[in-house]
Amino acid sequence: MTYSIKEIFYTLQGEGANAGRSAVFCRFTGCNLWSGYEADRADAICNFCDTDFVGVDGANGGKFNKATELAETVDKIWNTHVTNSTNKFIVCTGGEPLLQLDTNLIQAFHELSFEVAVETNGTQPAPSNIDWICVSPKTKVSDLLLTSGDELKFVYPQEIIQPEQFENFEFDLFYLVPMDGKDKQKNTQLSAEYCLKNPKWKLNLQMHKLIGLP
Ligand code: SF4
Repeated sequence: MTYSIKEIFYTLQGEGANAGRSAVFCRFTGCNLWSGYEADRADAICNFCDTDFVGVDGANGGKFNKATELAETVDKIWNTHVTNSTNKFIVCTGGEPLLQLDTNLIQAFHELSFEVAVETNGTQPAPSNIDWICVSPKTKVSDLLLTSGDELKFVYPQEIIQPEQFENFEFDLFYLVPMDGKDKQKNTQLSAEYCLKNPKWKLNLQMHKLIGLP
C-alpha cells in the first residue's frame, strides 16, 4: 500500500479531550466528501472545509511505499522536538484519513510506541487497533458507518444535520465546535447558547488557533 500524505507536523492538539497534548499530526491526502478544489465546492457533500488536503506537497509530505517508512518519518519528527519517548501521540487527520489508514500502519506506529488517534468524518470503516476515534460528521446520518467511538465533534451550525440527531450514538464525549470562517463570532455565540440549553454537549474552541499554532 502506498500512503499519500499532504503534510506531517508537530504541534499541540487543539480540540477535544486531548486538547493541549503534544502530537505529531499526519494529514492524509484526499477526502470522499469534497475533491478539495474550489471549482467543486458548491456541489460537494461537505462544502465548508477550510483545510488543504490536495497533493503531497506540504511540509514532510510525500508518497510512502511502506507503513514502516511513514511511521519512521513520524518518529523522526517527534524526536526532532522531544528528547524523551513519553506519551508519544500521533493524530491521523485529513482529508479523510480512513481512506488510507490501515491496520498495518497503525501497527507500525504502535511498534514505535505511539498512541494513535484518528479524526474522521465517520463514513469509512475503522481498523480495530486505533486507540482514539474522533468522529466529526459532515453528511447525513444515514451515510455514517461509525456510530461509536471516543468523541463526537460536531461543527456547528450545519445546514443538513443537527447535533440532536447524534445524541444516541455511542460516544463518551460530545463536543460542539463553532464553525470557522467569516461568521465565526456569531457561530461561537450560537454554539455557546446551544450548549447552555443542551448540557450533553460541551463547547470546544479550537485552542491551537487561539495561540497561533498550526
Ligand atoms: S469531511 Fe472533513 S476533510 Fe472532508 S471536505 Fe469535509 S471538513 Fe474537509
